[in-house]
Amino acid sequence: MSQTMPPLEKTLKSSRVIGHLKGNSDGPTVIFFAGIHGNEPAGVLALQKVFEELNEHHSEIEGEVIGLVGNLKALEQGVRFQVDDLNRIWNQDRLNSLLNSEGADAKNDDVEMLQLYHKLQHILAHNKPPFYFIDLHTTSSETDPFIVMNDSLLIRKFVSNYPLPKILGIEEYLTGALLSYINEYGYVAFGFESGQHKAPEAVTINIDFINYTLLLTGSIDSTPKTKKVFFEKLGNATKVPSQFYEIKYEHKLRSVDSFKMVPGFVNFQKVKGGTTLAEFNGEMIKTKRMRQLFMPLYQNQGGEGFYYIKKVPFIFLMLSKFLRHVKMDHVLTLLPGVQWRDGKKDTLLIDLHVAKFFAKPLLHLLGYRARQKDKDHLIAKNREAVSQKKDYINTSWYK
Ligand SMILES: [Zn+2]
Repeated sequence: MSQTMPPLEKTLKSSRVIGHLKGNSDGPTVIFFAGIHGNEPAGVLALQKVFEELNEHHSEIEGEVIGLVGNLKALEQGVRFQVDDLNRIWNQDRLNSLLNSEGADAKNDDVEMLQLYHKLQHILAHNKPPFYFIDLHTTSSETDPFIVMNDSLLIRKFVSNYPLPKILGIEEYLTGALLSYINEYGYVAFGFESGQHKAPEAVTINIDFINYTLLLTGSIDSTPKTKKVFFEKLGNATKVPSQFYEIKYEHKLRSVDSFKMVPGFVNFQKVKGGTTLAEFNGEMIKTKRMRQLFMPLYQNQGGEGFYYIKKVPFIFLMLSKFLRHVKMDHVLTLLPGVQWRDGKKDTLLIDLHVAKFFAKPLLHLLGYRARQKDKDHLIAKNREAVSQKKDYINTSWYK
């Protein structure tokens, strides 16, 4: 298909709301974001197409379906962002200072963030749960489609319905991603990467993905047979096993670094030890042993050179489910050097001098996301504590 279809146009004009459909009956609120990165038009084009078709066929919607553009200006210019990456600036302090001045100081990407923030708050205040937030992206390297997510049991359960690879743990590396911000609310929220930025398939796969998602959420009534059609389409779009993977390493880039990936690597590629991956500040980076490559960077803008990922063992998935259900994490504070940060009991402060044994895999197992606070302390936040799973217990996928 790629041989006959031209690459996607570089720039795209859209309004903030791509589409908004309201059904007559109660149902879920499903929100799709696209073009948070302005050089990723595929999600916007796919949403335009899906809304067009839903309108044309007068499809009966349950609840509401909303499609929003992230970075309008960057999308018009065909660049990832204007000044700051809109998917790295969602932190509460920055938002508060913008809100305190009522947006008077806001420029460039901050303007986009504020407008999105107000849309989001309006939806949360006026719409009905269950909520689903899905952020559509594409990558600079060639890739089969995949899902990125925070590892909460609720999100895990929902995304298990997709025959696609799922990547856990990116939020430990990225600060200020829109999804990390939304995840604080505890709803089903995850990212979908449909292909390479300019690949026409990134649009067609996205259309299938969006349609299938609307069947899963119950926004559109369906039979097991129609679900199966989309399930198979999506499954055929990837050669990567539909399993959970975890990020093990990130090659972080500062704005002063020079970085050039060796051409030809594709996402999920397994590379042998001793392979030259990239040139970094004049030196060649080689793999020490066999690695599975994730999101190699083939564009000028971006703060992450590449990642290594590893398949999550099945036993981890089962064990973590059990340990989180029995709230095993509450035993941790009995250990020396481990304490709750405050009375909320959802965040651990770990003194790395005392708690030397403390490994991230244990925290992950118990549902925590760990970040280095300083060189002596780790801050670990429980993803399960905020989970709004009660909103989903009557959905067909949860039962
Ligand atoms: Zn992106």
